[in-house]
Amino acid sequence: MAAALITACGTKGEQKPAMAGPRVVTSVELFADLIRQVAGQRAQVTALVPAGADPHTYEPVPSKVVAVAKADLVLINGLGFEETLMDVIKNNVGGRVPVIEMSAGLPVLEAGNQGTGNPHLWLNVRNAIHYVEVARDALIQVDPQGEAEYGANAQKYLAELENLDGQVEQSIASIPAERRKLVTSHDAFPYLAQRYGLELVGTVVGSPGQEPSAARVADLTKQIEAEHVPAVFKEPQVSAQVMELAAKDAGVEVCSLYSDALQGEVNTYVKLMQFDASELVRCLGSSPASH
Ligand SMILES: [Zn+2]
Repeated sequence: MAAALITACGTKGEQKPAMAGPRVVTSVELFADLIRQVAGQRAQVTALVPAGADPHTYEPVPSKVVAVAKADLVLINGLGFEETLMDVIKNNVGGRVPVIEMSAGLPVLEAGNQGTGNPHLWLNVRNAIHYVEVARDALIQVDPQGEAEYGANAQKYLAELENLDGQVEQSIASIPAERRKLVTSHDAFPYLAQRYGLELVGTVVGSPGQEPSAARVADLTKQIEAEHVPAVFKEPQVSAQVMELAAKDAGVEVCSLYSDALQGEVNTYVKLMQFDASELVRCLGSSPASH
């Protein structure tokens, strides 16, 4: 209804898929994937941050601003994760369409140096299940005629996520407890650690956009050695130079974990969690034969 009123202006020359459903805007491709699983063919989902970019520092380009202006629904994570996008969202849809935080209602863990709480809730699959339920309900709110379709799509995907949660739990449980230690690029893994039983030892970048210092590298090297951390984990959207130096000094392997950004073959949320679980097992799992 509202959509019909606002699409009257300025859309000529644009190639649009022929669909009548709502236009949904979200922040990252990771969430676009979760939402598309529910939207199916009925709604069009656009992410403002391109795959591989760091959402904590990304500034949206004009074509994405246009997408926001045409949105019928905006689904964000909340907790400051969309800090660089909020002006564009507020200025273009403020008060006109629902802007819904998918993390709302979930228990939040403290972030070391941010006032808002740590935003990376989706790395616990139980929380991603909540996001999908919020997305389903929001889609039904803006497009009530699609209720049966959204409901059926969500039911199927939620069952897949239930399985995924069990798979990740089982994989990580196979790692000896004393080796389940996490050193990562940025502070994205407290929810994963809490849910699946890992210990957070340290991060290289304290807060988004902050350059790590040489002193921090030296501290990290000491920490890796003192806590017998078997491997460290870089993230594709964050520079790994400093971590690689620390790992070399400490004599441990640099592995990878996905957190905020999809990239290459890791192009869905399910693949992201499967990749992370198997990488954790590969890099932390084996005990030295001498024990
Ligand atoms: Zn992050």
